[in-house]
Amino acid sequence: MARSAGICEDDDELRGVLRTALRREGLTVRATASGQEAVRAFAADPPDVLVLDIGLPDADGRDVCQALRARGIATPVLFLTARDALPDRLSGFHAGGDDYLIKPFALAELLVRVQALLRRASDDAGPPGSAAVVLDPAAHAIVHEDARVALTPTEFRLLAALAARPGEVVRRASLVAAGWPDGAIVHQNTLDAYLARIRRKLREAGAPASVETARGVGYELR
Ligand code: CA
Repeated sequence: MARSAGICEDDDELRGVLRTALRREGLTVRATASGQEAVRAFAADPPDVLVLDIGLPDADGRDVCQALRARGIATPVLFLTARDALPDRLSGFHAGGDDYLIKPFALAELLVRVQALLRRASDDAGPPGSAAVVLDPAAHAIVHEDARVALTPTEFRLLAALAARPGEVVRRASLVAAGWPDGAIVHQNTLDAYLARIRRKLREAGAPASVETARGVGYELR
């Protein structure tokens, strides 16, 4: 069966170039131009690899990745970024990305990276997990049935980090890395206060998930 690639890139010309190049690699390609479109398309039917622009018109590509991870989608992600600041690169990884390329890049380089991610995907492909929480990366909201509860960007990133690993204790340091820029000093109480707010908002949305505390270690979404 043909492997598939997803693209989310708002620049029409670049999106077209990527689509053509990936098709030439023998991949089935679906291309999207906004974060909301990407979550809708790729959460329902995950591709084998996803090329995801960070600077999208409606959302940060890293939040799109987090929203997909929160839905149990483990597709390897190659971020495209115009920004070359080191903290930005690193936070791409905290957001669940697997690799990144800085624009402008050589197409040959992108294809090498995509093939490497596809090889990795076939090694650890598994069925997507069941998601207790659905996150909208454009609105930074929890979506459950008819309820939509707004989160701050930091709350969104923390909840997505928990939702990507349901039933697992996520350590405090990993949560800080997911929620704040690199090198930020985040006090214990601050993290706890954020998690308390997230807990309240999950209840408000009626989501079938709760945040449990593993004292001194971290938090877990159940
Ligand atoms: Ca862009």
